Amino acid sequence: MTTLLINSIYRATEGEGIHIGIPQIFIRFQGCHIGCVNCDTKDTWDFDPAFTKSLDDVIETVEVLSQDLIKRVSITGGDPLHPSHVPSLIALINELKARNYYINVEAAGTRVVKEVFDIVDFVSYDFKTPSTQVKTSKELLARFLAEYGHKAQIKAVVSDKKDFEATYDAFHFAKTQNVPQVPWCLTPCYEPGEAFPMNRFQQVIQLNESFGLPFRVIGQQHKWAYGPEERLV
Ligand code: SF4
Repeated sequence: MTTLLINSIYRATEGEGIHIGIPQIFIRFQGCHIGCVNCDTKDTWDFDPAFTKSLDDVIETVEVLSQDLIKRVSITGGDPLHPSHVPSLIALINELKARNYYINVEAAGTRVVKEVFDIVDFVSYDFKTPSTQVKTSKELLARFLAEYGHKAQIKAVVSDKKDFEATYDAFHFAKTQNVPQVPWCLTPCYEPGEAFPMNRFQQVIQLNESFGLPFRVIGQQHKWAYGPEERLV
């Protein structure tokens, strides 16, 4: 029997990136070893077997939430691309594709997982900025764009000018490679426990303007609507 480590499955409106505003079903994997210091889902880090679910149960939950109306699934985490998740992730994707779901996978920007990226409809690929203290190599990013740029966006959480400049540097590097150009979305950081960071949003928008508007700046609207701590929204 195929089993998966699942933190939660819920229906919500996509709150960030280029698909903002679209109703989706989110499947959040449990387990991540990447360790971004400003992670807003640290409860998903532990590979705790108490979160084990059967594939049949996951599919049934998705179908109940779907009501045959919402046919989009976003697979997130945690880190759904951790090697220990990949076999069950592939089984999940194949089951969902057989039921005609459009599938986005959220990728942490630390791996290119061909056997997963080949079978999903879209990949949201992170560029990890310095404030995360995790590194996305520019070479890996270029390899990702060469193979999957036709169905991808790049997302970067930006806390400050250093984050913006690192993202611009990677963007500029990608432009010099012979790879498809994709939307790059900057997400101004909005951390749990802080008040709405209006100044940070303005700074990111203004930096983008001063660098010639290379990026789309898209905040996380679910945090504006519900606050940065609220889950399952
Ligand atoms: S990859 Fe995602 S879940 Fe893992 S630490 Fe980073 S932000 Fe958190």
